[in-house]
Amino acid sequence: LTERLQDAMKKLRRKGKITESDVREMMREIRLALLEADVNFNVVKDFTKRVSDRAVGSEVLDTLTSAQQIVKIVDEELTATLGQEAVPLNKSPKIPTVIMVSGLQGAGKTTFVGKLANFLKKNNDARPLLIAGDVYRPAAIEQLKVIGQQIDVPVFDMGTDVSPVEIVRQGMALAQEQKNDYVFIDTAGRLHIDDVLMNELKEIKELATPDEILLVVDAMTGQDAVNVAESFNEQLSITGVVVTKLDGDTRGGAALSIRAVTGKPIKFVGTGEKLTDIEVFHPDRMSGRILGMGDMLTLIEKAQQDYDEQKAEELALKMQENTFDFNDFIEQFDQLQNMGSFEDIIKMIPGMNNIPGMDKVQIDPKDIERKKAMVYSMTPEERVNPDLLNPSRRRRIAAGSGNSVVQVNQMIKQFKESKKMMQQMSSGKMPAGMDQMFG
Ligand code: GDP
Ligand code: MG
Repeated sequence: LTERLQDAMKKLRRKGKITESDVREMMREIRLALLEADVNFNVVKDFTKRVSDRAVGSEVLDTLTSAQQIVKIVDEELTATLGQEAVPLNKSPKIPTVIMVSGLQGAGKTTFVGKLANFLKKNNDARPLLIAGDVYRPAAIEQLKVIGQQIDVPVFDMGTDVSPVEIVRQGMALAQEQKNDYVFIDTAGRLHIDDVLMNELKEIKELATPDEILLVVDAMTGQDAVNVAESFNEQLSITGVVVTKLDGDTRGGAALSIRAVTGKPIKFVGTGEKLTDIEVFHPDRMSGRILGMGDMLTLIEKAQQDYDEQKAEELALKMQENTFDFNDFIEQFDQLQNMGSFEDIIKMIPGMNNIPGMDKVQIDPKDIERKKAMVYSMTPEERVNPDLLNPSRRRRIAAGSGNSVVQVNQMIKQFKESKKMMQQMSSGKMPAGMDQMFG
């Protein structure tokens, strides 16, 4: 969304207790921010009303200890507006599951077909068939074929002289014969909605009875995307929405309105031109993105669940006593592994997304395993007393864990940085270079 909302949140977070007038001011900012971001007026009205009702109601003001709670309400209501839970892809009880994509020209339909087919192939061992149903531009068929080659998935096409409905008919028959478990129907788009386009899509729908009719919309088109979604839904009764180009400047205002206006779940988002740039849509993450604070709240909640509280207390005590050792070091890794993928966690930390190149950071689970192996190769004394680690001990650890001395030195360096960071954290400062912790 805009900086406005982030500023408002920041201001609020700095305050301790908040009053009713703070809430009102905050709501004004939120309303403006959402409207500026092209969120539908009725959606904004409804949303701000729900938040103020909860915030001003007894729920918060009576028991309020920190502004964090109102941030949490905003986050929860945004998540609810976005659909609360991720909605999985429909699946047919017998193969093939048919997925038809629709949308305006340039929305990202063909790219999305490639992305999802690849995603299913990689994650579900699927054997999809792609049907080239956009016959109006020869380049469109070629584009799908190139994508098919890239992901090693077959593409069925009959050139541009056959009607899309006939192509779909024959493509479906081929899929039956070959026992493909997924069929994707790529369709044509127009620059504007018109009857010819809609009638063609309806015919294809009738013939193929798709399990999913996904509408692909471009997030960058803002309010237009909402209008498009509304009329496609009216005419085709879509089963779900795909929001593409979320890698652009937009912060998801369109996603917010589309869900609220159509009532249909957003199932996937596109985050780039590459065929791997696809994500399952998670309302809570999108809410975080809209709020511009990463998924901090999700992270906090997740951490609360996953982190064994007793261990956390022990660790806190150790940090204060300055006895953080290698056992604690690898325990950190265990805790992190329980919390989910490292990349997810990095993404959740506010500000990380803004650091150039941070999105490219890949944390390699093998690397973690390697580091754990090095710690396991230490004697109990060495683990609690890092000062013992002279060069000959380091050589022994390297040999014992199958690593080079350089790698052992790196790990020890990382341990020391981690230790320093833990000390800073226990003294209440946000450590610089949080990323060091992850290797
Ligand atoms: P179609 O006309 O709906 O089939 O749209 P295409 O799949 O041909 O995509 C149109 C353009 O948008 C192409 O240049 C794609 O590379 C680009 N595109 C599609 N999805 C995304 C996305 O998620 N992010 C970005 N940055 N570009 C995308
Ligand atoms: Mg296309």
